[in-house]
Amino acid sequence: MTDPILRLDGIVKHYPVGRALLPFQRRRLRAVDGVGLSVMPGETLAVVGESGCGKSTLARLMLRLIDPSDGRIFFEGEEITALTGRPLQRLRARMQLIFQDPYASLNPRLTVGQILEEPLAIHRIGARRQRRDKVAEMMRVVGLPVDHARRFPHEFSGGQRQRIAIARALVTGPSFVIGDEPVSALDVSIQAQIIELLEDLKRRMGLTMVFISHDLAVVSRIADRVAVMYLGQVIESGPTASVFASPLHPYTRALLAAAPKPDPAGRGQRALLEGDVPSAIDPPPGCRFHTRCPHATDICRVEIPMAEPGPDGHEIACHHWREIAAATTAPPVTATAHPRRQKRIAIFERQLARNQERDADIDRPGERDSRTTPSAARHPSSEKSTMGGRQ
Ligand code: SF4
Repeated sequence: MTDPILRLDGIVKHYPVGRALLPFQRRRLRAVDGVGLSVMPGETLAVVGESGCGKSTLARLMLRLIDPSDGRIFFEGEEITALTGRPLQRLRARMQLIFQDPYASLNPRLTVGQILEEPLAIHRIGARRQRRDKVAEMMRVVGLPVDHARRFPHEFSGGQRQRIAIARALVTGPSFVIGDEPVSALDVSIQAQIIELLEDLKRRMGLTMVFISHDLAVVSRIADRVAVMYLGQVIESGPTASVFASPLHPYTRALLAAAPKPDPAGRGQRALLEGDVPSAIDPPPGCRFHTRCPHATDICRVEIPMAEPGPDGHEIACHHWREIAAATTAPPVTATAHPRRQKRIAIFERQLARNQERDADIDRPGERDSRTTPSAARHPSSEKSTMGGRQ
């Protein structure tokens, strides 16, 4: 069996917050809490979840841009948890990050040529001429005219800037790339172009990718596997098609059910989770999702569920996933529509009924003329008096 290119083993990242007399008394923000994940060579793993669930912190831990509080990180079979200095710098040439915001991530004082040449100079790759050739090659690869190398970032559109950011990430020839919401700052039409470009580059350069996103539509298109995070923990992972078709964790079900659907018939099934996401400074004991989970029982409030293998390559951290899966049929989460939507539906149905009555009246002109008011037709008592009048 192939070894993973990247493996996280019980990774923890806590940030101290506030002040206290003694260090151990300080409160901690538990951004990432005991995550174990593997990324296989050549695959695209998507990490999804609500804002603040720890996705971006996890990406930075994978790249060793920040140090973990606990746990171990392995890259290409080598432990990199405590790597520093030159070995860490060499590692960075093989692992790269594409940032979310193409406006903020490019130095406005440098030309595109300088931006793309900088990582090669830092990692001492090639002589000056070779570096220039490499920059020209990368510009062609990402679909930018080579003669634009003398321009500055502000002279490009959003999509072109993200192409520059991608070229900069790939110019050192990494084998592992993380995209931290790489298309969420772009227009929808540009998003499609950038996703296509990423897929193409992944194929041509044999990349392994981790894709951080909250956009489930994008994830379903680009990812081979998906890991769902909630409050700093991975609660379900598995092949993307299977997780999207048959989610097993109640949170994954709610997340997918709440995603906007283009099919109007399916919109009534949307489930909205009740309550807010608890604070990562003081997360709930036991299962962190128990404060919002409709299936929570006593054990959920005290015992942390461990990830266990499920069907179709899923891993689920839930005490009751088997019972929930057995008891529910598709659609995955049965839920009523949002109250506002229910109200709109009721208004629409009333309007529809009124229209039908009016149409029926038009079809029977003699009857309509004999009635005093349209409402008379709807009330038996009124109808009676009208009938009496006719007699
Ligand atoms: Fe819900 Fe309990 Fe499963 Fe947590 S462990 S998701 S609270 S059923």
